Amino acid sequence: MKNPLVIALGGNALQSGKGPANAASQLAVIQNTAGQLVRILQTGQPLAIVHGNGPQVGRILLQNEAAAAITPAMPLDVCGAMSQGMIGYHIQQALGQRMAAAGLPGRPVTLVTQVRVSAEDPAFDRPSKPIGPFYTQDKAEWIAKEKGFVFREDAGRGWRRVVASPLPLEVVELAQVRALLDAGFVPITAGGGGIPVVSTPTGLAGVAAVIDKDLAAWRLAEGLEAATLVILTEVEHACLRYGQADEQPLLRVGADELRAHQKAGHFAEGSMGPKVEAALRFVEGGSGRRAVITRLDLALEGLSGERGTQVLG
Ligand code: ADP
Ligand code: MG
Repeated sequence: MKNPLVIALGGNALQSGKGPANAASQLAVIQNTAGQLVRILQTGQPLAIVHGNGPQVGRILLQNEAAAAITPAMPLDVCGAMSQGMIGYHIQQALGQRMAAAGLPGRPVTLVTQVRVSAEDPAFDRPSKPIGPFYTQDKAEWIAKEKGFVFREDAGRGWRRVVASPLPLEVVELAQVRALLDAGFVPITAGGGGIPVVSTPTGLAGVAAVIDKDLAAWRLAEGLEAATLVILTEVEHACLRYGQADEQPLLRVGADELRAHQKAGHFAEGSMGPKVEAALRFVEGGSGRRAVITRLDLALEGLSGERGTQVLG
């Protein structure tokens, strides 16, 4: 197999900020995304797709919560698996149709994917990732006592559960992803960063945590010895002084220079921060590697090196 390409899709590839959060509008957005992915597949490179799941898993949690008196609420790891299936289904359908129409061989296939984390990861001591619905302080305190969840006040909007965001150590189904690529399929894998699992004496066990999808994409790219990691999002570039009058887009940037910008605090935690970290870890892990951060509709131009932020080792 040629060295594959790993693409990480951001929230804007799956859902519009405007339309309703229903199935039809999710599918419509994903159909557009599939058009971008087909442009890349037409280059003939094998491709593995990773996607986010923040809003989707948030809604699944809310549904489970609201229906808890009728049918048992599923824990976060199971909700993560549901979101992989739900989003993967739409990508499979939309991309499958587009690939067939373009006369491309192979078909997309969704893999429910676990990603191993360490139970000793320091992130478990300071949960930081807000998930699911907002609660009043009273309700949050009650649930905290009942279930041992940790809550934090979220920017004046109410109380929200927070979970750890541990470092991905290994894509458990890496061999399966490889086999799918070798067979000419397009795997949709590690959705939402993968389902976080830890090793126990009796096997793998799901944990209540959220793995950053950009870092999961790095781990997958590493495992697959990918040639390029492409992180698609809402902005064309990672910028210095983002949002300020003297904002400066990064075009071609070396790892050392990018690390220095990161240390200087240019990339916001929880948004551009993990993308830059994933790009850096990838290019620092081997020679001749390249990572690209750019806008979804510039995917092909980013891959060919013309647009976006090109991170070089
Ligand atoms: P995704 O769903 O694709 O992961 P995020 O919202 O998590 O998207 O991250 C992308 C966002 O990061 C951009 O839309 C932008 O608003 C924000 N951002 C924060 N810091 C920067 C920066 N230094 N350069 C560019 N964008 C930045
Ligand atoms: Mg993000």
